[in-house]
Amino acid sequence: MMRKKIIAGNWKMNMTPTAAVELTNTLKPLVANEEVDVVFCVPAIDIIPVVKACEGTNIQVGAENMYFEESGAYTGEISPEMLTDAGVKYVVLGHSERREYFGETNEDVNKKVLKAFEHNITPIMCCGETLDQREQGITMDFIRQQVKVGFLNVTVDQAKTAIIAYEPIWAIGTGKTATADQAEEVCKGIRDCIAEIYDRDTAEQIRIQYGGSVNGKNAAELFAQPDIDGGLVGGASLKEDFGEIVHW
Ligand code: PEP
Repeated sequence: MMRKKIIAGNWKMNMTPTAAVELTNTLKPLVANEEVDVVFCVPAIDIIPVVKACEGTNIQVGAENMYFEESGAYTGEISPEMLTDAGVKYVVLGHSERREYFGETNEDVNKKVLKAFEHNITPIMCCGETLDQREQGITMDFIRQQVKVGFLNVTVDQAKTAIIAYEPIWAIGTGKTATADQAEEVCKGIRDCIAEIYDRDTAEQIRIQYGGSVNGKNAAELFAQPDIDGGLVGGASLKEDFGEIVHW
């Protein structure tokens, strides 16, 4: 099964709307590559200007979070319809920073995943273990639980189009990348988990990214692994390095 690679930048809480447009204009020519899906996941306030700046390019725009209700008294939250109306195609859900600092649970992530699908937004559902869990040897048990709960009630057709980002927490923003073998082992484990929940065909279609200190130098080895279908990139997505990653 040839899966199209997907390289997504996660800008996190960086870039004012003005800086976001400047960065987009700088990166546009560097990330032109029709052979991969290129996504900029940007802060909510940057979505509209970045979508406009990306018109006519291969770049699609994603959000970094979304609420699971349609509308109403949820001060400060962003609804799925707001995102689609603004031109969003993808949404990062359950990033470890949201789980750690904002208390998001697997159940919250599942509600968001279901709501994203309802609105034809492709979820990029993040999972990943802490260093402590890795050292205890419970990495795969922990991640399987994140995936199983995250995908509760997701239909087989929806699952085929989903993106899962495997991001070991100890590798995020630390400059410490998982080795290609470590990353492949878990991404394969996630694919096997999807095969158990659904079937092998679905598992072969779903795209699984690796994230955690990906840069222009280590991307090639990571993306050469059979079960790694691209990357979710934090720090390096704010730099020209992102162009190198897209052309690994
Ligand atoms: C991330 O935040 O999703 C991430 C992978 O960050 P970094 O690439 O900076 O480790």
